[in-house]
Amino acid sequence: WRSMLSQVAGVVKRPTLRSASLSRGMHTVTMIPGDGIGPEISTAVMKIFEAAKAPIQWEERNVTAIQGPGGKWMIPPDAKESMDLSKIGLKGPLKTPIAAGHPSMNLLLRKTFDLYANVRPCISIEGYKTPYTDVNLVTIRENTEGEYSGIEHVIVEGVVQSIKLITEDASKRIAEYAFEYARNNQRSSVTAVHKANIMRMSDGLFLRKCREVAEGYKDIKFTEMYLDTVCLNMVQDPSEFDVLVMPNLYGDILSDLCAGLIGGLGVTPSGNIGANGVAIFESVHGTAPDIAGLDMANPTALLLSAVMMLRHMGLHGYGKKIETACFDTIRDKKVLTKDLGGNSKCSEFTADICRRV
Ligand code: NAD
Repeated sequence: WRSMLSQVAGVVKRPTLRSASLSRGMHTVTMIPGDGIGPEISTAVMKIFEAAKAPIQWEERNVTAIQGPGGKWMIPPDAKESMDLSKIGLKGPLKTPIAAGHPSMNLLLRKTFDLYANVRPCISIEGYKTPYTDVNLVTIRENTEGEYSGIEHVIVEGVVQSIKLITEDASKRIAEYAFEYARNNQRSSVTAVHKANIMRMSDGLFLRKCREVAEGYKDIKFTEMYLDTVCLNMVQDPSEFDVLVMPNLYGDILSDLCAGLIGGLGVTPSGNIGANGVAIFESVHGTAPDIAGLDMANPTALLLSAVMMLRHMGLHGYGKKIETACFDTIRDKKVLTKDLGGNSKCSEFTADICRRV
């Protein structure tokens, strides 16, 4: 409590790396280590970046739930200030209490910085055995509304209602993001995922906006598919998919299914992209409380999220160097964490990647 209050009141002022060293050519990134295994995997990423001589200086900030005036939940002001200035964040997992207590800090971060596009590339890692070897797709999920708008209420005792909110503006914005992403990343098709046959008004509006936006991208093939059909086809032949764009809840679920196709959440990166260049990249797995502090965590998901971050910042060379070193370590199979089928510690896996960059 004392530390929470002091953060609100600004009593404890930690020195910022920005003021300490703003060396030429260095980019400042807000590092949110997170909870559970978060500090271990973020340390691993920082070590690998240092070994690769990536021009990044980290500003570490904790994101703990605090209540501001009127009891409103908010992210700590020093974390917000850092993100406002750096515009780019890398985030480990944050724990969320179930059905009580503070709301999801992940949701709060997305709302605070209007991070409207959740982007998850799912690409098979060569040499890492999974049920499929040819997955190469990207899910793009609308991140701010749908069933996750937080509009819930009790109608009468025993009856509650959650509202699915879909707006024209947010649907158009995510559709445009998906087509731009496809064009800029040499991808050839975008599939709109929906249930407009049942949710005629909400998904109907989402789909209409996707169709309208597609008109302006004749170089990208546009298809539309029911969510259930996508699930069926995805587990039968994921290679038929390229970029998929969808409302919030569908994206949350489908992106985990896609992660399973390439080896699970331990190897799946993601980015949350907002307006005006603001973006937070994060591992999609949780805090893994069962292995926290045991040096057993796999840092790959956070590392590949950091590689996405480097590409977003235009630092493609460093991104390629780090990604190649990570994949080489995995392909080599000598130093793997337990979840990847090995016996090595997180620190050993990290050291092997450092040696290769
Ligand atoms: P989890 O992802 O933390 O763990 C599921 C299983 O996967 C566990 O056995 C865990 O050991 C393993 N695992 C996850 N990441 C791993 C890694 N990098 N290396 C090796 N093994 C790994 O899911 P959970 O148990 O459902 O959630 C725990 C907490 O995390 C909850 O408080 C939840 O709210 C939170 N969470 C946060 C995020 C996020 O911040 N983006 C996402 C999901 C869950």
